[in-house]
Amino acid sequence: MTFPLSPNVTSQTLVPHYIAAGNECELFEVAWTRKLPLLLKGPTGCGKTRFVSHMAARLGLPLSTVSCHDDLAAADLTGRYLLKGGDTVWIDGPLTRAVRNGGICYLDEIVEARKDVAVVLHPLTDDRRILPLERTGETLQAPPEFMLVVSYNPGYQSILKALKPSTKQRFIAIEFDFLPKDQEIAIVAAESGLEPRHVAPLVNLAHRLRAMKGHDLEEGVSTRLMVYCATLIGSGLNPQDAIAAAMIEPLTDDPDVRQALCEVAKAVY
Ligand code: ADP
Repeated sequence: MTFPLSPNVTSQTLVPHYIAAGNECELFEVAWTRKLPLLLKGPTGCGKTRFVSHMAARLGLPLSTVSCHDDLAAADLTGRYLLKGGDTVWIDGPLTRAVRNGGICYLDEIVEARKDVAVVLHPLTDDRRILPLERTGETLQAPPEFMLVVSYNPGYQSILKALKPSTKQRFIAIEFDFLPKDQEIAIVAAESGLEPRHVAPLVNLAHRLRAMKGHDLEEGVSTRLMVYCATLIGSGLNPQDAIAAAMIEPLTDDPDVRQALCEVAKAVY
């Protein structure tokens, strides 16, 4: 699926490689044009971050990515007064910078952030598109070039950490998942340089391991881990060692589960 590059994108600009699963590129572009905030849902390592960097480069927009964590507060996004020399100076946070200068602000794993972050995002994600900065007394109006994109992994949600409906319903949302086999083989081959015929058994194995999610495993193998595994194999590592290091050890610490996964790996690869 292709559509023309933005005039801001020169042939020199490097657009990160991204294989689309469906119409997400068109949806992103419409959201951008119509100033709608975007929510990406899906498991870790399935391509959400790559998609955002791909689209930012295609549209010729600056991208500011923030990986949210449980200590991340609103002030980490908006900014704070800091002591510099003998003076107290206001330093914009990444969200404020993106609102002032235009561009995409991508908040990865938004559910991890503290509750006060939602308060800051609400007036930015409705038709007001404003960012009130209580500490400086300013109210910034987001320019047309500003876009907010957030992501989360629905699989990691708990009662304590879930995106409230009042926040969710301010975004248009795209669901991501691992791609069908042929496309995933193409991605892993392109990213790692390993030939598709050697990648295919890894993808088959990943499908077997993903089927175990919810039984012995909290999460299935991500596309990211498969790229790592194929990279190790392409660098000459014995495939079973590469699979153990990249597709089994990161999934479990339980010796019995690890043993069971190794047996599946031997049967498939
Ligand atoms: P997420 O943000 O969902 O955790 P990433 O975007 O970081 O995942 O994806 C992990 C890696 O998987 C990327 O660095 C890239 O190598 C590969 N990848 C996943 N999906 C795609 C895709 N659709 N096209 C190209 N590469 C992809």
